[in-house]
Amino acid sequence: MSVLHIVEVTKTFPGGTNAVDSFSLDVADGELVCLLGPSGSGKSTLLRMVGGFEQPTGGRITIDGEDVTHLPPERRPTGMVFQSHALWTHMNVFKNLAFGLKLRHMPANLIKEKVEAVLELVGLAGYGDRMTTQLSGGQQQRVALARSLVLEPKILLLDEPFASLDQHLRERLREEVRDIQQRLKITTLFVTHGQDEALSMADRIVVMANGKTEQIDRPDVVYRNPQTPFVAGFIGTMN
Ligand code: ADP
Ligand code: MG
Repeated sequence: MSVLHIVEVTKTFPGGTNAVDSFSLDVADGELVCLLGPSGSGKSTLLRMVGGFEQPTGGRITIDGEDVTHLPPERRPTGMVFQSHALWTHMNVFKNLAFGLKLRHMPANLIKEKVEAVLELVGLAGYGDRMTTQLSGGQQQRVALARSLVLEPKILLLDEPFASLDQHLRERLREEVRDIQQRLKITTLFVTHGQDEALSMADRIVVMANGKTEQIDRPDVVYRNPQTPFVAGFIGTMN
């Protein structure tokens, strides 16, 4: 069953071309879909519209049957992790995670319980007292992921979360995130320009160019039968 429907969504920036051009996609419950494409293909704009950080100029987005197209981010059942994690540097890890729960007026003992469970999930048990500036890049991205997950979003939105990390760490975090995503069975949209990332993580891949879908299929099909120069070129470099 699909939980996320993106229906003919368009984004035209003032004076610009269509960053996203009548784009449609249905995402099934628990599915991880990678939006893959070169820089400027409209991936981030699309993701930001699903998260409510950008307003579509056309089309409709529904989550679990509810039209969220014009809802602000805080009223959507979505959690977003950005390329630069934007953690609060003046708060420790615990407070970074507890902040959103406090806004929901959750009792302190329950907040503590939830934050500790999520820190455990992302492999940072016992790190609550650390300031975020004392953490490595990978640990900071784990905190950013935890900060989204602790609010129990229905849909997780990840925009190139590992882009600033080195190759080895990227590969490790890719496996960790996939593992967490499958354990929680959380519906996920994952934006990347890394073909290897998409091919190794996704249930389905949407290859984008100029705000449109060029190919959409399972990774093994995209790998065997690439329909775009962007993916075909990459596979060429592997053989
Ligand atoms: P991607 O994430 O695939 O690299 P983006 O969604 O960031 O692509 O950008 C898609 C297109 O929209 C690009 O041509 C970009 O220059 C343009 N764009 C993105 N954000 C803005 C903005 N705030 N104002 C004007 N143009 C933008
Ligand atoms: Mg982007």
